[in-house]
Amino acid sequence: MPGSERFVADHMLGKLARWLRLAGFDTLYLKPASYSDLICAAKKDGRTIVSRHTGLFKVREITGGEIKGLLLRDDDIDAQIKQVLTDLDIRISPVIRRCPEDNRQLDETVKEQARPFVPRYVYQTQQTFDRCAVCNRFYWRGTHYRSISLRLAGVLKEAS
Ligand SMILES: [Zn+2]
Repeated sequence: MPGSERFVADHMLGKLARWLRLAGFDTLYLKPASYSDLICAAKKDGRTIVSRHTGLFKVREITGGEIKGLLLRDDDIDAQIKQVLTDLDIRISPVIRRCPEDNRQLDETVKEQARPFVPRYVYQTQQTFDRCAVCNRFYWRGTHYRSISLRLAGVLKEAS
């Protein structure tokens, strides 16, 4: 099922962690994170570790296949996204969205609820708003989707 993969990202991957959440993936961002922190989190919830630390991929849990891990080759966010999507062969769910700050799945709200919290022109031009129950931020498809689809457009263009 698209969007059902879960991740834990090391402290070097803050941008990627935010992007994964925006794209709907349950993603822990541990900062700071020792190897054992990352491995514990991966074991506990069946998460795939994404990391830039070569040494991490020599630990028994990963070499033995107990935990899934992906060593990211690049510092560039677009290259990282492309690698995650292609190497793990995952697809993005058009339905699930998460708060990039809290990793909380967003709830679709009735438009009127967003009125006090969003700029007037946004309220007037957008039809659908999602709310994070943790931080009470409102997200709308304009910016939210644009940032995801722009990244994707770049990634796909490069891949073709
Ligand atoms: Zn939030």
